[in-house]
Formats: sequence, C-alpha cells, structure tokens
Amino acid sequence: MAVTGFAPLRSCRNLTFCAISRTFATTTALEQKKYKLVVVGGGAGGCATAAKFSRKLGKGNVAVIEPSEEHYYQPMWTLVGGGIKTLSQSTKSMSKVLPKSCDWIKTRASSFDPDNNTVTTDDGQKIKYDYLVVAIGFHLDYDKIDGAIDALKNDPNVCSNYASWTVEKTYPAIKNFQGGNAIFTFPNTPIKCAGAPQKIMYLAEDAFRRNGVRDKANVIFNTSLGVIFGVKKYANSLLKVIESRGINVNYKRNLVAVDHKNRESIFENLDTGEKEKFEYKLLHITPPMSTPEALRKCTQLVNAAGFVDINKDTLQSTKYKNVFSIGDCSSAPTSKTAAAVAAQVGILKKNLSAVMEGKEPELTYDGYTSCPLITAPNKCILAEFDYDANPLETFPIDQGKERWTMYHLKKDFMPHMYWNLMLT
Ligand SMILES: Cc1cc2nc3c(=O)[nH]c(=O)nc-3n(C[C@H](O)[C@H](O)[C@H](O)COP(=O)(O)OP(=O)(O)OC[C@H]3O[C@@H](n4cnc5c(N)ncnc54)[C@H](O)[C@@H]3O)c2cc1C
Repeated sequence: MAVTGFAPLRSCRNLTFCAISRTFATTTALEQKKYKLVVVGGGAGGCATAAKFSRKLGKGNVAVIEPSEEHYYQPMWTLVGGGIKTLSQSTKSMSKVLPKSCDWIKTRASSFDPDNNTVTTDDGQKIKYDYLVVAIGFHLDYDKIDGAIDALKNDPNVCSNYASWTVEKTYPAIKNFQGGNAIFTFPNTPIKCAGAPQKIMYLAEDAFRRNGVRDKANVIFNTSLGVIFGVKKYANSLLKVIESRGINVNYKRNLVAVDHKNRESIFENLDTGEKEKFEYKLLHITPPMSTPEALRKCTQLVNAAGFVDINKDTLQSTKYKNVFSIGDCSSAPTSKTAAAVAAQVGILKKNLSAVMEGKEPELTYDGYTSCPLITAPNKCILAEFDYDANPLETFPIDQGKERWTMYHLKKDFMPHMYWNLMLT
C-alpha cells in the first residue's frame, strides 16, 4: 500500500488526542539500561517517532538520545533570515517537546554496535535496545570552507540561515546592504531543504527593492548544481522568477574559501577545476553537509556516502531488521525536508509496529517531500514531489504558480502543524 498527499495534513487525519501525564526522566541513572525502543536524535524525526511510540509502548520503554537543550523548527529559519519571524519563535525547550513518558538521555551518541543492539554515548553509557530508530540529521561542515567560520564570526556581511548561531545575522546584513555583489551559495553535497539557499535570495532581493538599493545590487546565485531545482515543473517557474527579478545564476560553482578581511569569496568551477574570485558586500553561505561522524564510522549501518542504509520503501535497515531510519541521515533518495519526515513517520509507525509484532513491514513510502519555495514576503510556489521527481500535489490548483495562499500556509499554518500535530 502506498501513501500520497500533503504529509502534515495526512498526519492530521490520523491523530488521536489523549491527555498524558507523565514524569520526566533524564540521564545519569540510566547506565546500562535497556529499552524496547531507542531513538537517536531528538529533532523533527526523533521527536515525532518518540511521540508515536511512547504512547504505544508506555512509560519507560522508549529512550531518546539527544544532547541539545533546544528543539528548533528549522523550516522557519528562512523567515528568520528574512526578518519576518524571530529565532525564539522557532525554538522550544527540548524538555517541552519530547514526550514525558520517554527517558531523555541528554548526551550525544558516540558509537553504534548494531550486532549487539547497543548505542554508546559520549559519557560512557551503554544503552541497549530491542529496536533502534536513527534520526540524527545532518552535521553542518562550515569548516570545509576555508575562512568561513572566521567570516561568520567576524564579518557582519557574511551570514547563513542554516545554524542557530548564524541565522540571526542574515536580516541585519540584508537591511544594511547598500549595493554591490550579494552572493548566495549552494554547496557540493546533499543538503537539507534544497530550496532554502535560493528562498533567502528572493527575500533579500525583494528587501533591496523596498530599501531603494536594488539598482545598485548585483544579486548572484552561485550553485554547485547544474539546474536551479530538481523538479522540472518548479524549475521552470523559478527560472521565470529569476529572469523577471534580474538575478544572475552561475551553475557548477562551489564555494571553497572566504577572505572576509578583503571581502572576497573563492569558488571552484566544477567543470574546469579553476578557482574564481568574487568580491562580495553580502555573502549568504549554505554549508556542505554530511551525516554525523558517530554514525558514519559505523560501517555496518551506513552506505558509502555515510547515510543509514535503508530500504527506501519500508525505511528498514538493509542489514538489521530491528533498525529503521528517518529524516536527513537516512539513505532514502528524496529531498531532505521536515515535510519528508512527516510522511516518513507515518510509514515508520506502521512498519516498525509490524516488525515488533513479528510481521513484515507493509507500507511503502513513495518519497513524498515538499519545499515551499518562498519568492517574496507574500508569494510562494509549493513544490511537492516523489522519489521520481514527479509532482505529487495536494491542492487542485497549479502549484507551480507563485501564490499568497501558499505563502500563508508556509508562514502561519505549517509551524502550527509541526508543533501541535507532527510532534505530538
Ligand atoms: C534554513 C532551513 C530551511 C528549511 N526549510 C524547510 C522547509 O521549508 N520545509 C521543510 O519541510 N524542511 C525545511 N528544512 C529542513 C528540515 O528542517 C530538516 O529536513 C528536518 O529538520 C530533518 O529532521 P531530522 O530529524 O532528520 O534532523 P534534525 O531535525 O536536524 O534533528 C537531528 C537531531 O539529532 C541530534 N544529534 C546530532 N548528532 C547527534 C548524536 N551524535 N547523538 C544524538 N543526537 C544527535 C541533533 O541535536 C538534532 O536535534 C529547512 C532547514 C533549514 C536549516
């Protein structure tokens, strides 16, 4: 059986609301503890998984290994960078988001031993499990761009929507921009939300117009990719936006260095290998990304690229029947988004439950993912598509068009869906 459609709406249909009053347990007394289910990572995928299974398995049977005190709704960071929302609106305390009946093991997983059903943590705990869900997302590799961290820390004109410590720099950089090159980058690795590197560019370009500096600005999108977007229908729409807004796109350009003292950025031309220098007055960096090292070094669990090697239909590990993975760190070959996670959680719930009952996984994931491509503070193209890059649209209208309704869906409705439905 396959499932299609708008993932959050889909989850909404399946929701059961129940009042749960439970006590909250954290770390140190848990050494050597064994759980029915261990979830590694408390982000979008980990929290949603814990919510679904804590209710099902009951108190004390589910543990989440997650070091962070904060849980972020990262899809809001485009709007934070655009000056439309604040970082605090995208943030909740992890203790409030994780289900109360699961044990929160507040540290980092440092290694996985799937042959012995054990995860070891940074502080030396050995956590045993019957079933494991890996949802530890992406690591941001700013350090792979020479000078990027220094520039992000010291140059007010270098910003990045991708991390909590850099996202608040973006809007001041846009607001204070007076002209010159405004450069937006896309790295040479898989990334989360492949639309986000250009969404902030459209918001910045719009702000430059409103601030009266557009005629002095050269807006440049330097992307490692050879296309503007991976789905033809939406790529065609975006190319029209780019043309009408006078944006310059350079394909196959990968940012390799930033010299913030001279306001210069160096890009590698991926076709010729040559290095090209671009002066900047504003530089928005999307960093290269990889799965966290703790996962990558477990060669039994991951594929050659470091992603948890899963069956793309069932989300089950190709080697270990008691291991599943969802979200950015899994090998499911779809665009990495929270919307994809929302769709995957429904599949995971059904398939992992079946395995727990000694049955085979029964639901098939079609690769559903979604990217609300914001093009202005009141316009958005809602891209929804599957593994084969075929549109998989929810609404009976042409979603390839810029629409204010889709913008409000993204800005106002989706955060509500995330906090109140997907994570509960
Ligand atoms: C700027 C930006 C814009 C985006 N826009 C959109 C959008 O419009 N729509 C959309 O659907 N998606 C969007 N996304 C993508 C979306 O946020 C991610 O795809 C989603 O959060 C992935 O969920 P995840 O659970 O796989 O990873 P995450 O939510 O990143 O969670 C991973 C968790 O694992 C934890 N962790 C890491 N290492 C370890 C370890 N060793 N041990 C234990 N825990 C660990 C981390 O602390 C984190 O809490 C955007 C993201 C960004 C940054």
